[in-house]
Amino acid sequence: MSLLVVGSVALDSVETPFGKADEVLGGSATFFSAAASHLTAVQVVGVVGDDYPVAKLEPLAKRGVDLAGLERAPGRSFRWRGRYRHDLNVAETLETHLGVFSNFSPKIPTQFRKAPFVFLGNIDPRLQLEVLTQVERPRLVACDTMNFWIESRRPDLMKLLERVDAITLNDGEVRQLSDCYNLVKAARWIMKRGPKLVIIKKGEHGAFMFTGDTVFFAPAYPLEEVFDPTGAGDSFAGGFMGYLAKCGEVTEPALRRAVIYGSALGSFAVEKFSIERLLEIDHRDIAARVADFRKLVAFEEDL
Ligand code: AMP
Repeated sequence: MSLLVVGSVALDSVETPFGKADEVLGGSATFFSAAASHLTAVQVVGVVGDDYPVAKLEPLAKRGVDLAGLERAPGRSFRWRGRYRHDLNVAETLETHLGVFSNFSPKIPTQFRKAPFVFLGNIDPRLQLEVLTQVERPRLVACDTMNFWIESRRPDLMKLLERVDAITLNDGEVRQLSDCYNLVKAARWIMKRGPKLVIIKKGEHGAFMFTGDTVFFAPAYPLEEVFDPTGAGDSFAGGFMGYLAKCGEVTEPALRRAVIYGSALGSFAVEKFSIERLLEIDHRDIAARVADFRKLVAFEEDL
C-alpha cells in the first residue's frame, strides 16, 4: 500500500565528534523515504530550490520513491546546520534557513491523494495542516515536529494534534510540548489532545509506544559506533510507517513490529553521514537486524 510523506528536503551541514559533512542530502522527507522505500512504495511531496543537486536523489527514485510531488522553486533550498558534541542524543541547531520553504504551499498530486498511509514530516505545522485538506480519508496519519515549531507555531501544532492518529517525538520535544517532565504523563497529555498513538524516541535509550491502554518499549540497537545521529528520527518514522503500509494492518501486534522496524532503520541511518548507509543496505541486512532485536529482549521466564 502506498505511503505519502510531506516534509523537508534539505541540504545539511553536520559536525559530530567523528567528522564533518557539508551540504549533504538531508531533510525529514529524504531520510523518511530512504528508510521506508525498503518496505513499500513512497510518494514524496516537498520543495527544493534551483540550487538543489536533484540528480543525487536518483538512487531514491530507482528504489521506488516517486518524486512527482517534489516542486522546484526559484530560490535557495532549505539548509540546516547542526552539531553534536559527546552526547549524541542532543542535536544543537546552529543555523536553519527555510529558503524556498518560507513560500511553499504543498500541492498533493492527484495520484497521491488516495494514499492510505500519510506521514507529515517535520515542517511548518501550517503546511502539515494544508496537506490534510487535500488527502482523501487515509487510514493512518502520523506526524512529527521539533522544538523550532513547538516554540514558533504552538497554536497551529495544537490544531494539527486534533487531526492526526499518531505522533512521533523525541523525549525533549514531548516534554517541551506538554510542559510535563514525566514521559508517561506527557504521553497521556498528548493523547488527550488528539493522537491515539504517541511514540517517544529516546535516542540510544530506545523508544516507547503509548496507546490508550498499552505501552510497548523497544531498545535501541547497541551499536559500537554511532557516526552521525542526524535523521535517526525520520528514518525511525520511515521504518515504522513503511512496515505498516507493507503489511496493511493497524493492529497492536503490527504496530509493535512496526516500532522494531523503525528502530532497525533508525540504527542503520546513524552508521554514516546523510542517507549513505540507508542506500547501501538491503532486505537481508534489515531482516538480520530485526532478528537481532528479538534476541536482544528475549528471555525465558523462570516458572
Ligand atoms: P532527525 O531525524 O530528527 O534527526 O531530523 C534531521 C533532519 O531534520 C535534518 O536532515 C534536517 O535537515 C531536518 N530539519 C532540521 N530542522 C528542521 C526544521 N525546522 N524544519 C524541517 N526540517 C528540519
